[in-house]
Amino acid sequence: MAPLTCEPQNTSREQRLITETRNNLINLLNSQDKNGKNPCADFFGGAANAVAALSAIPFLPGKLNDYKTGISMNVPTGKVAAGQTYVTPGTATVNTIGGFYNTWYVDSKASPVKSLSVPGFGTLGSNNNQSRALQMLHELGHVVITGTNPDGTPIFKLALDGGNTALSEQNTAAVEAACGDLIKAMIKN
Ligand SMILES: [Zn+2]
Repeated sequence: MAPLTCEPQNTSREQRLITETRNNLINLLNSQDKNGKNPCADFFGGAANAVAALSAIPFLPGKLNDYKTGISMNVPTGKVAAGQTYVTPGTATVNTIGGFYNTWYVDSKASPVKSLSVPGFGTLGSNNNQSRALQMLHELGHVVITGTNPDGTPIFKLALDGGNTALSEQNTAAVEAACGDLIKAMIKN
């Protein structure tokens, strides 16, 4: 057992890290280099669109079944209005046993009890500010619309990847390629 400490309750830490990560990302998306550029914001259709889409995602902490999932969203995939540039998910659950918050997962059903390493995201590991930023930006890619199919359904910046680990990792790599330099300028811990 961990010793007693004066840490705030888990719910407080969980909510705080969602708020801090989102605020950090709004700053990141609104920043410009000396040439007035931001490749990360450009990846998501520009800073204004990215910030509006990110602000609308209803991130809430919650326990998912699998510690390997960082965040899970219900993304609407029906027809969108002409000119619509993002959708708003019904839910966006930040997994309380996943890599947004944790480095280790304790499997208490195993005998003896086992500590399992929570998988990292891209090259940024888990449970640190940079990894949280990458995870949240990955989700942002699932709500930003880049076009529509002939039937009026949206084409997302990052194809939905629920249950598809290879596609999820490919999506994370694409976000890290566009945003990694800016994310790594953030304080990691
Ligand atoms: Zn994904």
